[in-house]
Amino acid sequence: MKTLVFLLSAALTLASARAADTLRIYVLDVEGGGSTLVISPSGQSMLIDAGSAGAAGDRDAKRIAAAMQAAGLTKIDYLFTTHYDGDHVGGAPNANSVAHFDRFFDHGEIDPKWEQNNGWEDRYKAYTAIAAGKRTIVKAGDVVPLKGARVDVVASQGAVIGKAINGGGKPNPWCKDAEVKPPNPTENSQSAGVLIAFHKFTFLDVGDLTWDKEMDLACPVNKLGKVSLLLATHHGFYADMSGAPALLWAIAPQVVIANNGPRKGMQTSAYDKIEKTPGLEGLWQSHLALANDKAHNTSDDMIANPEASTECKGNWIRVDVQPNGNYTVTNGRNNFSKTYKAR
Ligand SMILES: [Zn+2]
Ligand SMILES: [Zn+2]
Repeated sequence: MKTLVFLLSAALTLASARAADTLRIYVLDVEGGGSTLVISPSGQSMLIDAGSAGAAGDRDAKRIAAAMQAAGLTKIDYLFTTHYDGDHVGGAPNANSVAHFDRFFDHGEIDPKWEQNNGWEDRYKAYTAIAAGKRTIVKAGDVVPLKGARVDVVASQGAVIGKAINGGGKPNPWCKDAEVKPPNPTENSQSAGVLIAFHKFTFLDVGDLTWDKEMDLACPVNKLGKVSLLLATHHGFYADMSGAPALLWAIAPQVVIANNGPRKGMQTSAYDKIEKTPGLEGLWQSHLALANDKAHNTSDDMIANPEASTECKGNWIRVDVQPNGNYTVTNGRNNFSKTYKAR
């Protein structure tokens, strides 16, 4: 028995030692919603979006709790809400009951002048109730104080950063023939987004930021530089409302993870655009895109959930980033992993 206790504590020590210099990201499967857990080497953690409410809320809170357990967390320090659509902020109260957030970051007051998902008044009330007294409204250009990593807010409430960051600022050749779309009238356009940097590694999550705002980030100069990892915007360019090639191909992510649902995002046009990204080394998907053929899904090993939502086990995709720039992406379903080197 003593040996077993010793082995267990040795294993725990090993696990925490590994976390001590590693940035870890879990892209949770919330069935086509948003929820991404970031754990800094300092031990501080931030959840970017909290999935949905209602019956889906129990499901999503359980998945957040499971990821916390896998990561050895008993609480999550921050909730960063990109925007107030149901699949991003709806789950916030349920998530708060498992994560006990200390601070809340968001893009500011909800504004009905933007098209809102049904039930927005109740949803917003529930959010502001848990965030009361702990809330910080972020503007583009702000920094979220996550110890051990750099978290730049690159967009918020319809505005994007004025000055380039991350080595960006060069003229962008993809702007010349870029398709321009009219200003998007939905709440998605107000998304707050972050670029998280850890040594050479960078991770971009801009929620459901829309095409017009992506163009503001990309043209005439690319304000974001190149990124290592992109969470495919809007669940994999949902309905082509996001996914402006002038941004995607200029930031040229080495690896893309899509938090798509079985039938939400990652339509064939999204798949094709991602595949054309210069220097792309890997595409991972939360879900098999059921409406697509095999040629428009990534390889089986890199898909976390092959089933429809009713059967889905909610497997995550994890990213472990080392200070030397090596980062390993792991599929929670089959433990398949690949290691990349941040450029
Ligand atoms: Zn699923
Ligand atoms: Zn969404």
